[in-house]
Amino acid sequence: MTDTALTTRHVPADLPTRIQHYIDGEFVDSLDGDTFDVLEPVSNEVYLQAASGKKADIDRAVAAAKKAFDEGPWPRMLPRERSRVLHKIADIVESRDARLAELESFDSGLPITQALGQARRAAENFRFFADLIVAQSDDTFKVPGRQINYVNRKPIGVAGLITPWNTPFMLESWKLGPALATGNTVVLKPAEFTPLSASLWAGIFEEAGLPRGVFNLVNGFGEEGFAGDSLVKHPDVPLISFTGESRTGQIIFGNAAPFLKGLSMELGGKSPAIVFADADLDAAIDATIFGVFSLNGERCTAGSRILVERSIYDEFVERYAAQAKRVKVGYPHDPDTEVGSLVHPEHFEKVMSYVEIGKTEARLVAGGGRPKGFPEGNFVAPTVFADVKPDARIFQEEIFGPVVAITPFDTDEEALALANGVRYGLAAYVWTNDLKRAHNFAQAIDAGMVWLNSNNVRDLRTPFGGVKASGLGHEGGYRSIDFYTEQQAVHITL
Ligand code: NAD
Repeated sequence: MTDTALTTRHVPADLPTRIQHYIDGEFVDSLDGDTFDVLEPVSNEVYLQAASGKKADIDRAVAAAKKAFDEGPWPRMLPRERSRVLHKIADIVESRDARLAELESFDSGLPITQALGQARRAAENFRFFADLIVAQSDDTFKVPGRQINYVNRKPIGVAGLITPWNTPFMLESWKLGPALATGNTVVLKPAEFTPLSASLWAGIFEEAGLPRGVFNLVNGFGEEGFAGDSLVKHPDVPLISFTGESRTGQIIFGNAAPFLKGLSMELGGKSPAIVFADADLDAAIDATIFGVFSLNGERCTAGSRILVERSIYDEFVERYAAQAKRVKVGYPHDPDTEVGSLVHPEHFEKVMSYVEIGKTEARLVAGGGRPKGFPEGNFVAPTVFADVKPDARIFQEEIFGPVVAITPFDTDEEALALANGVRYGLAAYVWTNDLKRAHNFAQAIDAGMVWLNSNNVRDLRTPFGGVKASGLGHEGGYRSIDFYTEQQAVHITL
């Protein structure tokens, strides 16, 4: 590819112009024939039509998944047999990582190198749960001479999986992997902004030998009467795993309540990175730049608030702003791009409105609007606000874009109060060379996950989830297996 080609739009070869649902092993349109437009984020031009699922389509998909659960081999197969299929899925995803990344980057605006990392992580999610299900053991308890008690673990039924548009393929795999490993059948409702990569699952699963009806996909919107809402309200779907905004999570919680469904909710965040004066400043700056600007800032665990100890505050802000200005904004398919295009014009407008709000609330030290050279599409310059007060909207509200708020603190107590002073509690990052302080801070902070002197690096065995408005329940490792299975206690009198 020439340099000029890298500066212009890149359209992947063989791009589909329409996307259908996938129900009971067949690609099908909506029963009412309805479709919706999908936009390319670099130009905001419509590039395909996707089938818009309604209640009737969800009914069909759930019926297929229920039949596959009630009659099919999948829930009754040995863990080793299911594991083989899951490993094949991982192999296929790995072998197609470049194509997956190309399509994901085109559809979502993510930088191509980061989309490639996400495709590999999707394969790893399948591999991890393929291994875990084989290693799974359940509790047995003996009362000598009187009783033996053991646990029977069973798949639950049709799992409803509802996912967001940020890193869509990877986040879908994070639910599909454990739901399928444990023997459930599924109906996936991917995000309406980014249906492209999800449309590839059907072919991958067929090739890997997943039985018909085990995986079903219905595209469409979330609101009442549409696909997402209908899935939540379907009586034959006993569990819903949802990732998305906290507000949507509240609505789903209410709609699932009459059915007493099992719920796992991975919601929004406004995660703090706390930098103490004794920290390794170079490492802290690099990590906090990456922490909020990677994945276009469209990352639930983004460190979108940076709290900095007063004695290093001025130096930090100056160096941070200079480095933010060097972050390379570019077309998503360019391998040098570090921040691509935001996913959709609606989301772009939301992020830009926060940039304008920020200008009235704090001191702008980098970015602050469209980057030069990108008159079209959803491009936002990496934006840094300093001296942000804790009651500012840009301190309190999730922006979900390349925008960061920096705030000074004087004492450990003040840092903790600032860190915890928002409704969210997903992740936190602490930078200090004082070991005791780091561990005590981790203990006191309201966050589901804490990284000490570390970038956001995941270990799939650890719990993933948030507290407060950031979520309900934890997935990751055996917690995912627990969510997708019933545990029946069996008692035997001796
Ligand atoms: P969203 O809540 O708008 O949509 C998520 C999904 O829910 C979409 O598929 C949508 O169609 C569907 N939906 C919407 N209303 C629904 C309803 N009433 N019933 C059923 N389904 C409905 O979220 P988004 O804008 O796509 O994603 C961004 C959000 O996701 C951010 O808040 C981000 O922090 C969060 N997120 C959290 C995690 C995590 O693990 N905690 C990970 C990624 C993203």
